[in-house]
Amino acid sequence: MKVVRASKAGFCFGVKRAVKLSEEASKKKGPVHTLGPVVHNPQAIERLEHMSVKEINEIREARRGTVIIRAHGIPPEDYKVLESKGIEIVDATCPFVKKAQDYARMLHDEGYAIVIIGEKDHPEVRGIKGHAKEATVIETPEEAERLQMCGKMGVVVQTTQEQAVVGKIIPILFNKTKELRVFNTICSATGERQEAVKGFAGKVDVIVVVGGRNSGNTRRLAQIAGRIAPTYHIETARELKKEWFRGAKTVGVAAGASTPDFVIDEVVKRLESY
Ligand code: SF4
Repeated sequence: MKVVRASKAGFCFGVKRAVKLSEEASKKKGPVHTLGPVVHNPQAIERLEHMSVKEINEIREARRGTVIIRAHGIPPEDYKVLESKGIEIVDATCPFVKKAQDYARMLHDEGYAIVIIGEKDHPEVRGIKGHAKEATVIETPEEAERLQMCGKMGVVVQTTQEQAVVGKIIPILFNKTKELRVFNTICSATGERQEAVKGFAGKVDVIVVVGGRNSGNTRRLAQIAGRIAPTYHIETARELKKEWFRGAKTVGVAAGASTPDFVIDEVVKRLESY
């Protein structure tokens, strides 16, 4: 069985940067915490835990020492809470996410009703919403249809959304307002990984998508892959089952922007041994 690795797979710029900043922060005095997982990948987290970088889930759990803000960013109120506790902040918010936050703030200041295209409960979206002060979050064209008419509407997009879906939502929003201002804040890393998966069409019999089940961009890759060929979303090589590949001549391996190289390498190695 031939194994083909997607031309773009694994850690993106923002995640690499967040992991590097976390590794550097691990050398600081006092407790070092990340607010939520610094990367949506259990194997990468395990590695950081060995360096004494521990995860906390709630801002109130941070009492002293250093807190690392992950690539998804946080709302402005959370910075204030950390500062008021005298905690040192290592800000690993991805510059692409910062851009979306800045646009949201600017649109709010200019009086636009803000729509965020993204997953309602995703931390990145919660952060952007905080910077927007007030915003409606939608994820599908159906939700866009249900929006009320408004005078002027400003749109920002969760960095990991799929371009094609956003392309369906925007014309609907156009009919909901007299003035529409859209910032396409989808980051290139996401698009590149999605295009790499689409490149598998007609070339592979099965696709394996590697990455955390809690990773939004990996889940979306798996959705896209599922439209192309039978797809299995796994976190590690241990989950692979030989019977998935019965009769397959070629298997494509893709990975989300939060998947470390060593995890992808293990999957490729195991598949090559079949
Ligand atoms: S996927 Fe894009 S926005 Fe998200 S961390 Fe990576 S580079 Fe930054």
